[in-house]
Amino acid sequence: MNKKVAIIPGSFDPITLGHIDIIERCSKIFDEVIIAILINPDKKYFFTVKERVEMTQEIIDSLDKIDNVRVDSFSGLLVSYAKKTGSNIIVRGLRAVSDFEYEMQLTSMNKSLDEEIETFYMMTNTKYSFISSSIIKGVSGFGADLTKFVPNIVAKRLEEKLKEV
Ligand code: ADP
Repeated sequence: MNKKVAIIPGSFDPITLGHIDIIERCSKIFDEVIIAILINPDKKYFFTVKERVEMTQEIIDSLDKIDNVRVDSFSGLLVSYAKKTGSNIIVRGLRAVSDFEYEMQLTSMNKSLDEEIETFYMMTNTKYSFISSSIIKGVSGFGADLTKFVPNIVAKRLEEKLKEV
């Protein structure tokens, strides 16, 4: 049987406990999981792609029992990236109804670009349902304990990065 390779695409700017929960659950279902970090030249990121990949890799290396997960970056169309990696499975997380409309559009667009692509949605773990990378960036720098929302490594990097900017 063909190996089932799932791609989890996103900005991961930075990776949060919500993302990690989806990644861990996904790694138990699929043979292989690729965390595909997006490089979109039109989007302004807080962390560079190199930093996002390094941080994510460091976290994956520190987790137990997920040796079927690898980290990569990509630019351009997700469906082209999927084809290149030999996968037709995309996994995204859903937090709230507010995510739904955008995700529906994204999935329909990808499907119309490549009919073979299937997108699966995993419902967030309720304890992480309010966590997003942007809200974390919004509260960082004011002395809040970020380790409830992101791994320690990320909390440290956020503090360091804020000193740089
Ligand atoms: P994007 O810019 O593509 O939304 P993100 O890095 O913000 O990239 O998110 C990547 C994926 O992770 C998306 O499918 C998003 O819905 C999901 N995600 C983000 N935060 C959470 C969370 N707290 N719980 C579950 N899924 C999440």
